[in-house]
Amino acid sequence: MRQVIIIGSGPAGYTAAIYAARANLSPLVIASSVEFGGELMKTTDVENFPGFPEGVMGPDLMTKMQQQAERFGAEIVYDDVTSLELDGPIKAVTLGNGDRHEALAVIYATGSAYRKLGLPDEDRLSGYGVSWCATCDGAFFRQKTVAVVGGGDSAMEEATFLTRFADKVYLVHRSETFRASPAMLDRAKADPKIEFVTNASVAHIYGGELVTGVGVVDTVTGDERTLDVSGLFIAIGADPRTHLVHGMLDLTEHGTIAVEGRSSRTSLPGVFAAGDVVDPTYKQAITAAGSGCAAALDAQHYLEGLSDDVRQGANAETVSA
Ligand SMILES: Cc1cc2nc3c(=O)[nH]c(=O)nc-3n(C[C@H](O)[C@H](O)[C@H](O)COP(=O)(O)OP(=O)(O)OC[C@H]3O[C@@H](n4cnc5c(N)ncnc54)[C@H](O)[C@@H]3O)c2cc1C
Repeated sequence: MRQVIIIGSGPAGYTAAIYAARANLSPLVIASSVEFGGELMKTTDVENFPGFPEGVMGPDLMTKMQQQAERFGAEIVYDDVTSLELDGPIKAVTLGNGDRHEALAVIYATGSAYRKLGLPDEDRLSGYGVSWCATCDGAFFRQKTVAVVGGGDSAMEEATFLTRFADKVYLVHRSETFRASPAMLDRAKADPKIEFVTNASVAHIYGGELVTGVGVVDTVTGDERTLDVSGLFIAIGADPRTHLVHGMLDLTEHGTIAVEGRSSRTSLPGVFAAGDVVDPTYKQAITAAGSGCAAALDAQHYLEGLSDDVRQGANAETVSA
């Protein structure tokens, strides 16, 4: 039996692994079989992660985090968790290959999946003009024209934020009514740099190496026209990856895992959650890393509160495993 198992290998999971390993907790990280490294593996330049004044490529940053965790003794398994048993003092984690691991504590850091439009070139041009995060990528579009897709608060916020850099922002929305709050909608509508394109859905993303335009179809007439943009920001929501813990852990109204105050403690003792899976608001690599750190410290304190017999049992089996 392990002291702690960490599920997920994004900034939250690897930061939790670094802290847990340095606390001699010999963490086992279940990194995922194909999506190890998390969301930053899908992007190019990351310019807002502290410590990299020249910026860093997303995959390079995640490789460095992985190496840092391994340097202190974290063990990484490249497989997916398929089921969990989380109630009771001993937690069990079953993987796609059938292996079953037990631990006294689990840190759940599976992130959140941005919703996609489902267009053929969306993934290919991700990081090359297609983005899900204006905070991350807005500065790459100085004096350019960009489009934002969506009709909720986040789409309004992204569009308004992008006017700091872009000369023009199209706000493309499939209907004439908006989910966004009136205040956010009014602010976007009042902005002279934002042009609303309503009753329109994005049907094509054009571009060889970089985005050069998007084809939008009028949902009433069926007519298609091209918007000449160099960036497409997709703001149609995100789905926290919680399916494994439905019915086990309390969730918030946003679908994220509920945690106690600023801690990572979930509704079950010994189960901690960190990163975008608990965060409907900030969703940045650095905030995910910070919450991974908090989860490792919370897990460490939880383990220290367990009886010596229980903890030494975990140590002995980790050493002999
Ligand atoms: C294209 C793009 C560009 C971005 N650019 C920036 C940027 O420039 N700066 C910035 O700060 N933020 C950026 N972000 C946001 C940032 O990537 C996220 O906020 C951050 O990665 C969240 O970290 P996380 O560890 O919570 O989750 P994630 O990075 O999503 O990692 C979660 C991990 O859990 C794994 N996982 C999920 N389910 C299972 C399972 N069942 N078994 C095992 N593993 C599982 C996933 O495969 C993944 O490895 C960007 C996001 C995207 C999509």
